[in-house]
Amino acid sequence: MALTHNLGFPRIGAKRELKFALEGYWKGQGSLDELKSLAAELRQLHWQNQGALDLAPVGDFSFYDQVLDTSFTLGNLPERVRGFHGDQLDNYFRVARGRSARAAEHADCCGGVAAGEMTKWFDTNYHYIVPEFSADTEFALDPSRLLDQLAEARAQNVNAKPVILGPVTYLWLGKAKDDSDKLTLLDRLLPLYSQLLDALAEQGVEWVQIDEPALVTELPGVWLQAIDKAYSFLAGTRVKLLLATYFGTLGENLQSVAKLPVAGVHLDVINAKHEVGQLIELLPEDRVVSLGVINGRNIWKTDLDATLDWLEPIAAQLRDRLWLAPSCSLLHVPVDLGSEEKLDAEVRNWLAFAVQKLDELQTLQAAVNNGRDSVAKALAENKAALQSRSESTRVNNPLVKEAVEKITTELGQRKSAYAERAALQHGNLKLPRYPTTTIGSFPQTREIRAARLQFRKGELNQAEYVEKMQEEIARSVREQEALGLDVLVHGEAERNDMVEYFGEQLDGYVFSQFGWVQSYGSRCVKPPILFGDISRPKAMTVKWTRYAQSLTDKPMKGMLTGPVTILNWSFVRDDQPRSVSCYQLALAIREEVLDLEKAGVSVIQIDEAALREGLPLRQSQWKEYLNWAVESFRITANGVSDATQIHTHMCYSEFNDIIESIADMDADVITIETSRSDMELLDAFDNFKYPNEIGPGVYDIHSPNIPSEAHIVQLILKAAERIPAERLWVNPDCGLKTRQWEEVIPALKNMVAAAHTLRVQA
Ligand code: GLN
Ligand code: ZN
Repeated sequence: MALTHNLGFPRIGAKRELKFALEGYWKGQGSLDELKSLAAELRQLHWQNQGALDLAPVGDFSFYDQVLDTSFTLGNLPERVRGFHGDQLDNYFRVARGRSARAAEHADCCGGVAAGEMTKWFDTNYHYIVPEFSADTEFALDPSRLLDQLAEARAQNVNAKPVILGPVTYLWLGKAKDDSDKLTLLDRLLPLYSQLLDALAEQGVEWVQIDEPALVTELPGVWLQAIDKAYSFLAGTRVKLLLATYFGTLGENLQSVAKLPVAGVHLDVINAKHEVGQLIELLPEDRVVSLGVINGRNIWKTDLDATLDWLEPIAAQLRDRLWLAPSCSLLHVPVDLGSEEKLDAEVRNWLAFAVQKLDELQTLQAAVNNGRDSVAKALAENKAALQSRSESTRVNNPLVKEAVEKITTELGQRKSAYAERAALQHGNLKLPRYPTTTIGSFPQTREIRAARLQFRKGELNQAEYVEKMQEEIARSVREQEALGLDVLVHGEAERNDMVEYFGEQLDGYVFSQFGWVQSYGSRCVKPPILFGDISRPKAMTVKWTRYAQSLTDKPMKGMLTGPVTILNWSFVRDDQPRSVSCYQLALAIREEVLDLEKAGVSVIQIDEAALREGLPLRQSQWKEYLNWAVESFRITANGVSDATQIHTHMCYSEFNDIIESIADMDADVITIETSRSDMELLDAFDNFKYPNEIGPGVYDIHSPNIPSEAHIVQLILKAAERIPAERLWVNPDCGLKTRQWEEVIPALKNMVAAAHTLRVQA
């Protein structure tokens, strides 16, 4: 008989209850006890949601982040937060966010501290708090969180399978602050893992899920040896270990994994289906094989029949050794489709959120154990839903498919090389040396947000809303003229979000009401759902841009989000490659670019903020991704005439390993984030001899601080050591929508003054 289990459940709550409770608590509303009891209620609810499983995860709940939880369990607290006298949870929030509501009571001993660094969890949009190590890191076990949650689960008759992050991945994800070799800490860490497993065994726990997702990356040899060492060390434990890997293939690590002395291995079948046979062949016959057959990263119904066709022979072979599960923790999908009241009924029928994915798992289990007939109704419904999806005319638009097939390399090619274009553009635009501009958005004021809400509620009609937004645009233009900026923007007042704004106007997208996914801490995102072939019924930005241009003689920059960013920040289709969806988006945004050009807009910026984050986990796959990603950008941007200046913007500065692709995009101007790195990150461009224009950010928009003119001058001079001054632009790091006008005006004043100073010196 095959068993079912789950690797983790979303903890934020179907209506983001945890988010609101946390944020309230951080603001000083509500007590710690209230927060803790809400957490207990959520856990109870989530175990109920998972009630039909043979084993449910315990310890996957987190107040902020599971990696930070692990740091606390292992007693690996940064030096700066030690000796805190308050509640442990307050201290935990101090590491997570630098402060805590109750810190005031401890002002003498422990006020605010530097928050832990945050970074992306593998290739997801979830961010974890990076463990900090040094050569002297000492660990001290505190199993209380896990034991308490275990007791809680037991009291609710949950068949509990504690979940912990494995020692090697924990070290892999951390950072040695003193540049020591963090791997040497493994010897100090392993005895604690033994003790932790003993403590769980003591409570009668049979199975423990130990996550080692680092195994799906290209692990250096010493790290693979560390895996060997760790699991040999833990082999004596009294609990059974299920080693969980997810998000990718085991690849060259598979042989080693199969030999580990663990009781079972979980494999992500969505990504590593082709490895299942080999793994089963290599594993000793007493090992459990957990197959992650339901996609834990997307929101589509599983094709149950197809899954069963593949699974049944494996089930017949494995019998009791087979476990079924989602591919990874369900943390990365929204909680419950049942909450959606407004979602388009047709599309809704094609979707499955966490709760529905567990139902699918149940159906698969029943089919495998008792035959498909035992779940004939569920299978028939699934089949009908899938069929309606594959046949829907809203999904399939032959014209779009044809257009993608007809794409040629010519479509992505500018007419002339950069040097010729630049001469033409400079002649037309007549910009001074060190031209100044901004990245697009100006402050999203309370009035703007209120107007949008009123419009959504029907309290403002279309004409009234447009008028309000035009007032805001006019204000932005006025301010920019007063500041003396060279290339203006309209300010993006009308945009709620840089992806949603375009998704809402494109055919092929739907939006959920509660499809929230945790991004970090209490922050969630609600990715739009790309369900069908993408087309653009009508121009999306032209009216706004034209209006803004009518208010000034300075060049007005058209502002678009690029196809790769729209793709990477959406839930995308599973019935065609990502590349195809991206090309479709590229063709749609290309039409917008050409319409802007036709409307007389001579500078057009296409943001690709998320290009880098779409990089696959394994470096060996980067090339393929970058090929179609860059090609998509080129298709979008490069249909314009030589005189039209194309800008792109990226919110980061690590370009070393992708600089060639960035240059391939062939944008006339790229603006990037550099102010915090003191321009050193421009070295990548310098070393590569990047040929086009660059606007390295000189103003850190993440901080309320106003940069001084002198500081900006000094940054530009540093930039000019690396990039010839005639190819430098002067601009902030990113858009200004999260700032206040009171901060933006003095900062930009200093920025413009800095450019003037340098022009005079030149
Ligand atoms: N044009 C967008 C803005 O200014 C860019 C935002 C981003 O890159 N994240 O807000
Ligand atoms: Zn940005």
